[in-house]
Amino acid sequence: MSVIVLVEHTEGIIKKKSFEAVQYASVIAKKTGTTTAAVVAGNVAESEMQALGNYGADKVLHVTNYKINSSQHRAFARILVTAAKQENSAVIVTLHDVNGRAIAPRVAVVLKAGLVSGALSLPDTDKGFVVKKSAFSGKAFAFVNVTSDIKVVMLIPNTFPLVKTEGTAAIEKLDVSFEDKDFGVKVVSVDKITGEIPLSDAELVVSGGRGLKGPENWGLIEDLAKELGAATACSRPVADAHWRPHHEHVGQTGGTIRPHLYIAAGISGAIQHLAGVSGSKTIVVINKDPEAPFFKAANYGVVGDVMEVLPRLTEAVRKFKSQQH
Ligand SMILES: Cc1cc2nc3c(=O)[nH]c(=O)nc-3n(C[C@H](O)[C@H](O)[C@H](O)COP(=O)(O)OP(=O)(O)OC[C@H]3O[C@@H](n4cnc5c(N)ncnc54)[C@H](O)[C@@H]3O)c2cc1C
Repeated sequence: MSVIVLVEHTEGIIKKKSFEAVQYASVIAKKTGTTTAAVVAGNVAESEMQALGNYGADKVLHVTNYKINSSQHRAFARILVTAAKQENSAVIVTLHDVNGRAIAPRVAVVLKAGLVSGALSLPDTDKGFVVKKSAFSGKAFAFVNVTSDIKVVMLIPNTFPLVKTEGTAAIEKLDVSFEDKDFGVKVVSVDKITGEIPLSDAELVVSGGRGLKGPENWGLIEDLAKELGAATACSRPVADAHWRPHHEHVGQTGGTIRPHLYIAAGISGAIQHLAGVSGSKTIVVINKDPEAPFFKAANYGVVGDVMEVLPRLTEAVRKFKSQQH
């Protein structure tokens, strides 16, 4: 009887947020007196899978079907169901991300399991299986008790601290009886974003809104992001106006992120925007309007013109870095 956790990878490189999910699952396993089985599908090197042992996986169940890619959510649901049945699992963990949101509900239906989406805490097993979760687009928390025998938990990335330990994971092959319909979605082409830090994994994010006035000023955001080693993001109107690509838009209808630092430049702080970023550990707001709603959610605020403040901030970071050498 193991806690099952789904591992995501990009071309064989396991994502940081999956190491977090494995560590989260392993703490649940220890609390409930069982082991952790990480499920990996596709072409991943043995050494990469063994690294999961450093984050608490006791074993890796490897599905060596190289037809699988991350958009085949039915196939992944079948893999998790097969693993859960084989391991007689009571808890299955996925990430609350674009893949987890498509896979976890399917698994819950087949296994007649209770599902917690948007999990922000380990379950409190003294009182049943009580998990703190995000509610009302991140404006509130809910505590839910999952009473079904089997539980599916979707962990929000960047919630659970990652601590590398020494451990080894045994790798076992997992046989899954797929059906043709599991591969009903075919990827016809992939446009790769190169040389950028993926927004979902970023610990530092510099974001811009309509206060930047136009795409010609985006260099101000990129310069600061480059100095900090941060990813870039934007508000929805900025993406709608094609100043920036849509994958950078955060908020209720965009990505949800929880970086250590979120710098919002020229963004008003509408509730729909805050829904995607309010979980950030530190929020810095730069806005020329002292009444901008974002200041209420900020840890630090600068009332000023982004055209002046951003270059000065970038220069200050550059100077600070040069003093460290
Ligand atoms: C159903 C629905 C879903 C939505 N989903 C999202 C979502 O997912 N994400 C999202 O972002 N929005 C979303 N929106 C839109 C949201 O309501 C706001 O309209 C949007 O977030 C505003 O973007 P903004 O702050 O960039 O622009 P604005 O509201 O125009 O604000 C610009 C800000 O920049 C400041 N500013 C202007 N010039 C300067 C300067 N030179 N220096 C410093 N500051 C300056 C202004 O004071 C102002 O506060 C959604 C709306 C709806 C109805």
